[in-house]
Amino acid sequence: MTDETRTAPHGLHHVTAIATDPQRNVDFYTTVLGLRLVKTTVNFDDPTTYHLYYGDEAGRPSTILTFFPWRDVPRGRQGTGLTTATAFSIPPESLGWWQSRLSGLDVEVVDPPRDRAAGGDDEEVLTFRDPDGLVIDLVASPGDTRSGWDGVADVPTEHAVRGLHSVTLTERDLDPTASMLTGLLGMDAEGGADRSRFAMARESGAVLDVAAATDAPEGLQAGGTVHHVAFRAPDGATQERWRDQLVEAGLEVTPILDRQYFTSIYFREPGGVLFEIATDQPGFDVDEPLLELGRHLKLPPWLEPTREQIERSLPPLRLGGEPVDGTT
Ligand code: ZN
Repeated sequence: MTDETRTAPHGLHHVTAIATDPQRNVDFYTTVLGLRLVKTTVNFDDPTTYHLYYGDEAGRPSTILTFFPWRDVPRGRQGTGLTTATAFSIPPESLGWWQSRLSGLDVEVVDPPRDRAAGGDDEEVLTFRDPDGLVIDLVASPGDTRSGWDGVADVPTEHAVRGLHSVTLTERDLDPTASMLTGLLGMDAEGGADRSRFAMARESGAVLDVAAATDAPEGLQAGGTVHHVAFRAPDGATQERWRDQLVEAGLEVTPILDRQYFTSIYFREPGGVLFEIATDQPGFDVDEPLLELGRHLKLPPWLEPTREQIERSLPPLRLGGEPVDGTT
């Protein structure tokens, strides 16, 4: 075993959540939050459902939020054993701007900007829900040098969402999860009065918070909740070493799966949250040019033979007033 296996993942890769109506999902994340739709594809394990990816201009790892829009799924319930918040990073001076924007667009703001203690510092956070009830935090983050996506006319570049900041897991017991994060996954425990923070790297988009809630009800994973959280592996060799190490520790880990834009392994943490480790490469421009991202229904080679049937099973989708090619 080399030292490499002891290092933490390089940060968050993506978060995947469950939505209902795909068009409403596209409209919300591209126009309200100002993210770029970087891939329109299907859930490879259930090709009659879209898999929609949002992120910065290129969909760089640590900026990506994705959705499975299952049209008839009931509303989930926040609680233990779930990722209960997905946080994006914004410049500190943009909090007020976002608060007025969200209120002006009738978005359900759960908490106006407030301070919370996570890790060694206080941070200012604004919390709202998306149309399916998914909880999103906007965290004032000084020093985040990521550029975000500046392709949305009414979100000025200086206020643009920079990328993921963190996720919050709600757990009945902090200890088993904490020991996996620090022991097996090599994260640094940074403590915190309101929530326990675990850091993967010094860069932005590389922390995970655990809120211990001994009395909270068990969460129900369904519409408006997070499906899984993915961490970054710089390359396939590192991912393979991670896999060996997790298997050696007695965890059930999937084989390495080809997700077309990255390869993935999946396993569960002790509180029940599904984790994934995904590679940074090859990225979203592997099957369409950067300028065209999201504008065509893309399928991996093994699903191309059934494209006609897949296209027929999907509802039409529009992006910026134009039909997404292959979805009409
Ligand atoms: Zn994933």
